[in-house]
Amino acid sequence: MAEPAAGFLDPVVDEDGAPFWEYAARGELRVQTCAECGEPRFPPRPCCPHCRSFADTWRRMSGHGRIWSFVVPHPPLLPAYAGVAPYNAVLVELTDAPRIRLAGNVVAAPGAPLDSVDPARLRIGAGVRVVFAPAAPGGMPVPRWLLERG
Ligand SMILES: [Zn+2]
Repeated sequence: MAEPAAGFLDPVVDEDGAPFWEYAARGELRVQTCAECGEPRFPPRPCCPHCRSFADTWRRMSGHGRIWSFVVPHPPLLPAYAGVAPYNAVLVELTDAPRIRLAGNVVAAPGAPLDSVDPARLRIGAGVRVVFAPAAPGGMPVPRWLLERG
């Protein structure tokens, strides 16, 4: 388990997923994509489930997406999370790869806390765009989501 920042959990980085987090640290949202058939896949893994190729590339995404689903966690939660509940946890469908859905949180600004957006403002299908910031000071930069206007 990665070292938590102020009680919040950092992602666990494995060999297949390491490039995702290296790009994230540079502010780029990239998705592992088959170099043979062009299908994006997530979570990262060695072999393409469509054509069984082991050749891959990391395709840069626009960073735009839509809320595919969301939940509003309430305690019991880990203490750091209980302190900011209720907040939101969203699944975002990427505009550039609609079968890819990333878990995250909608926040008011890149470094804002988990409870910075009232869950009542969220709607399935709402447009969002990615930003990268640690979930808590000292943590790893992770994809977070801002609501798009309109
Ligand atoms: Zn393939």
